Parts: sequence; structure tokens; C-alpha cells
Amino acid sequence: MKEHLLPIQEFFTSQVTRPYEFRREQLIALKKTILQHEKELYAALYADLRKSPEECWVTEVGFVIAEINYTLRHLKKWMRRDSVATNLLNFPSRSFIYKEPLGVVLIIGPWNYPFQLLMTPLVGALAAGNCVVLKPSEVAPATAALMEKIIRQTFSPHYVFYQAGEGATVVPLMMNSFRFDHVFYTGSTQVGRMIYEMAAKQMVPVTLELGGKSPCVVESDANISVAAKRIAMTKFSNVGQMCVAPDYLLVHESIKEKLLLELSRYIQDFFTADPLSSLDYGRVINEKQFNRLIQYLGKGKIVFGGNHDISKLYIQPTLLDEVIMDSDLLSDEVFGPILPVISFATFEEAKKIINRNPDPLAFYVFTKSSAKEKQWIDQVAFGGGCINNASWHLTNIHLPFGGRGNSGMGAYHGKFSFDVFSHHKSILKTPTWFDPKIKYPPFKGKLNLFKKIMR
Ligand code: NAD
Repeated sequence: MKEHLLPIQEFFTSQVTRPYEFRREQLIALKKTILQHEKELYAALYADLRKSPEECWVTEVGFVIAEINYTLRHLKKWMRRDSVATNLLNFPSRSFIYKEPLGVVLIIGPWNYPFQLLMTPLVGALAAGNCVVLKPSEVAPATAALMEKIIRQTFSPHYVFYQAGEGATVVPLMMNSFRFDHVFYTGSTQVGRMIYEMAAKQMVPVTLELGGKSPCVVESDANISVAAKRIAMTKFSNVGQMCVAPDYLLVHESIKEKLLLELSRYIQDFFTADPLSSLDYGRVINEKQFNRLIQYLGKGKIVFGGNHDISKLYIQPTLLDEVIMDSDLLSDEVFGPILPVISFATFEEAKKIINRNPDPLAFYVFTKSSAKEKQWIDQVAFGGGCINNASWHLTNIHLPFGGRGNSGMGAYHGKFSFDVFSHHKSILKTPTWFDPKIKYPPFKGKLNLFKKIMR
């Protein structure tokens, strides 16, 4: 493994990746190859997850193209050194922040948005001037094979190296035999912990984009129809296999029945009465996930859906009421088309349920009250979220996307991606014509002056 990685380090050390023109050319080349393979990407994502071309464009291919275009528009400005103010103590020095590439970075992707979640960080890493090792998820094999083709066609393996294979085998092999300058990992909290431990042994910095249970609160004053429509849309998109999908609903008891009715109505509007034949409804990735998911169906009362067919990896959009509160349904991330619905009477009661699974990746609240909105934002620790919406915050390139604590560390997208893959090098430049005595020993008798200068 090491023999593949050392030439990448040499390539980085040669400084080739640093100039703006080089980075720009690579991003343009990546965009071109992706667009050349657009139809093949649709086919691969259909084979792995039965995504429609429309869904593929918004959440995978188009998402990455938009990231490249935005980066190309701003890269020159981002790369410039920033001039910042200098404090009185350092007068008449000047201060700058240089943006440096980190070196050779490892990017590890998951299977649920197998293209977007490997390629979006790649865009940031290349823009920042790094060399990259890409490790796709083996669980979405059609997309992984096509990405390999795209990467090999676009880049020299000394610049971007594509390492397919079982994560549990190839990732430790790479991380233990070579010192990466950064590891950017997207996936489960459980594996994220292992990555963090491996990285810590060599003091390698990490970005961890993890999962968790993202709550969705619907207050008594919410616009119930709009809430139901937006929740149904994002919860059942990609069959709920989305890191920021609403994991469970906390609904004010006074509106629960009405919300359940509206949710059922929208699910049928979106995916018809027979989602199995709907072009907009995907499939569970594999039998392992299917079997994990269907055992949740016994952890509450099915009020809508519940049909499933393992031969087609199909689980109908399902609403569960009267949930068993101490079951794994409320401690493990659902990551599928099953939505537990819990009612609450008071803010404190709902907050207590959320705090059973601290630091969710996302949080959503539907309410007309700005006081309630503020109360929820202030009192729950989470990565990011929406008011009167769900999941769409991650599609705004101007917002940093990432978790905190159990749901991860670090954030990316747009300029934040460039920053995550850059070292911000602080430089203080001091002229030689001015060198006051006060800065040098002996210091005796200078305390009052120091107190005036440094306050
Ligand atoms: P996963 O942790 O099983 O796999 C992710 C990656 O880690 C894959 O490339 C896999 O090959 C590798 N891997 C697996 N076992 C490993 C091991 N023992 N050592 C090293 N590497 C290993 O995650 P997944 O099942 O692909 O993805 C689902 C999870 O990812 C969910 O929890 C979801 O919430 C989370 N997720 C988070 C985000 C985010 O942006 N925060 C996005 C998508 C998914």
C-alpha cells in the first residue's frame, strides 16, 4: 500500500499542485469528465439505489457540478493572502494569513449519496491544492466502479489516487502504513470513532461527517399542511437513507392526528398508492439494511404503510405511532423510510426526549412563533438545521455543513471546503527601522507602560 502512496507525497512536495492555473485546470477537467459520463452516472445510481435522473441531478451530479462552478468563480480570491489588522503591541508590523494546501489527504465516502459525498470534498481538496486519495464505499458498487473510471480518466494516480475495496481492510492498511496530512471521513459514528483513533496515533487531523438521530419538532402553531408536505418529501427521498433526514417526529399532542393524516395524504400524492411502481421512490441499498429496518416495524403501531418485499428491497413509506420509548428505534439512527411519531405536551418534555441522543447532525422545527424558533435553536445542540423546512440547509453552498460532538467535527461546502483543506498560516512582518527599547529586557519599571499598551 505504502508504495502507491509515497509517489503521491513526492508529487505534492514537487509544488506542482500549488499554482492557481493548475488547480483551475484540474477542476475544469473533472467537470468535463463528469458531464461526459452523466448518463452512465444515472444508470449506476439507479442500479445501486434506484434513483431517478432528476433526483440524481439535484442530489448527486448537479450538486457536484454546482460546487465546481462556484469554486471556479471564487478560487482566485480564496487563494489570495488576507491582510488583517495588527495590535498596538506589534506596531508597526503588518499581518497576513496565507492559505496553504495540507498535503496528501484521504477522503472516505459512504454509500447513500455515493457520488456527491466523495466528489464534493474532492472539489474542496483540489481547490486548496492538495493531492488526494479517494476511498469510495464498496456498498454502492456500480457507482464506485464508474467513479474509478472517471477519476482514472481525469487525473494521474500521483495526483488523485482511487483506492476501492472493503473499508475495514483497505482503510487501516493505508492509515497505518502512511501518514496522511488530513482525513476527511463521511459515514457512521461507529466507524468514525475508529478513523479518529487511527488518525490520533499519528496526530493526523480529521474532519468527521457522521450520522445520528435528527429530530423534527412540529409545534401546535405550525402550518400543518406545509409541515407534512416538507417532512414527507425529505424523509422518504432516497428511501430515508439520508444523513439529514428527519429521524423521528416530535409533534404537539393537539395536532398529532391532523399531522398524521396530512403526512399520509402527501406520501400518496408524491409516490402514489403503490410506491413500488413509482419512479420517484427508491430502494433500500441491500438485504442487511433491509433486515435491520424491518425489525423496527414491530417497535410501534403502524398507522400508515408497513408493506415490504425483500426480493425487491422495497419498504413502503411508513408512519409509526405509539412507539416503544426504550427500544432501539429511539436510540439508533433509523436511516430508512420509517418515521416514528411521538407526541409531546411541553417544551421540556420534548427536549428531554431529544437529549437522550445528544448532538444530532440536524434539527428541524415547524412553528409560526419566532420565540419558539429561538428557544429551540438556543437550547438544543446540533450541527445545522431548518425552520419550517427539513434537510434543504445542506443544499445552500453559503452555509457550512457539518455536525458537532457525536455527529462529527468540521464543516464543508463552498468556501468552507476550501478552508477545511487549507492550512491558514499566520505571518507577522516587522520592519527593521523601528525597534523600541521597551520590548527588550531589562523590564523593571515598565509595568505601567505595558498595562497601557496591552489592555
Ligand atoms: P460506514 O461507516 O459503514 O462506511 C463509510 C465508509 O467507511 C465506507 O467507505 C466504508 O468502506 C468505510 N469503512 C467501513 N468500515 C470500516 C472500518 N472498519 N474501518 C475503516 N473504514 C471503514 O457508513 P455508511 O453505512 O456507508 O453510511 C451511513 C452512515 O453515514 C449513516 O450513519 C449516515 O448518517 C452517515 N452519513 C453522514 C453524512 C454526513 O454528511 N454527515 C452523509 C452521509 C451519511
